Amino acid sequence: MFYDPTYFIFIAPALLLGLWAQSRLRGTFARYARVPTSSGVNGQTAATILMQQERLNIGVRGTPGVLTDFYNPANKTINLSQTSGQNSIASVAVVAHELGHAVQDQQGYTPMRLRAAIVPGVQIGAWVGPLMFIAGYWLRSPELIWVGVSLFALTAIFAVVTLPVEFNASSRGLAMLQTSGILSAQEIPAAKRVLDAAALTYVAAAAQAVLTLLYYLSLVSGRRR
Ligand SMILES: [Zn+2]
Repeated sequence: MFYDPTYFIFIAPALLLGLWAQSRLRGTFARYARVPTSSGVNGQTAATILMQQERLNIGVRGTPGVLTDFYNPANKTINLSQTSGQNSIASVAVVAHELGHAVQDQQGYTPMRLRAAIVPGVQIGAWVGPLMFIAGYWLRSPELIWVGVSLFALTAIFAVVTLPVEFNASSRGLAMLQTSGILSAQEIPAAKRVLDAAALTYVAAAAQAVLTLLYYLSLVSGRRR
C-alpha cells in the first residue's frame, strides 16, 4: 500500500505546490534579506521594540540557522535565528510574525488553543492511524479501518487549523510593524510578500494532509464495491 502509485497521483498536486512554495519562499526571502529597513532596525532590535509595544513578557533566545525563528509557547520564549541580526525587511517581518504567535498565546487565541489541544492525538495518530488501517485490512475489520482513518484525520485537521493560526500571526505582525514605525507604509507590502510566501508552504502542507486523508477514504470506499 505504501508503494501504491495511486497515492502519488492523489497527492501529486500538493507535492508540486509544496516544492513550488518552498522555492518561492527561498527566493522571496533572499530578495528582501537584501533590502534594509528605512528605520535601520534589525530583527533583534525589532523584537525588543515590539515586545515593549505589545507588553509581551517573554524570554528571548538565539537559535542556529536561517529562517528558523520560532515562538515556543511551552516556555514563553521567542527564538531568533542568525538572520535576525540583519537589518532587512525579511528579518523584521519574520520576527514580527513570531511575536504575532506570542500575542495569540497571551490572548488565548482560539485556533491556537484548538491546535495545541489536538497535538497529543496527532502525535499518536500519525503513526498508529496507518498501522490500524493496515491491520484492519489484514484482519478484515472495517471497525479497525475506521479507527485508523479517524486517527489519521487528526493530522489533516491539525494541518488545516494551522492555517488561521499562521495567517493571523502574519496580519498581527504586519500591524505591529506599522504601528511601531519600524517599517513605513511603503515597506509593509514587501514584508507582506515575505510572510505570504511563508504561509503558502503551510497551505501546501495542509493540502497534502487532506489529500492523503481522501486517499485513505477512497481505499475504504473502494473496498465496499
Ligand atoms: Zn508562524
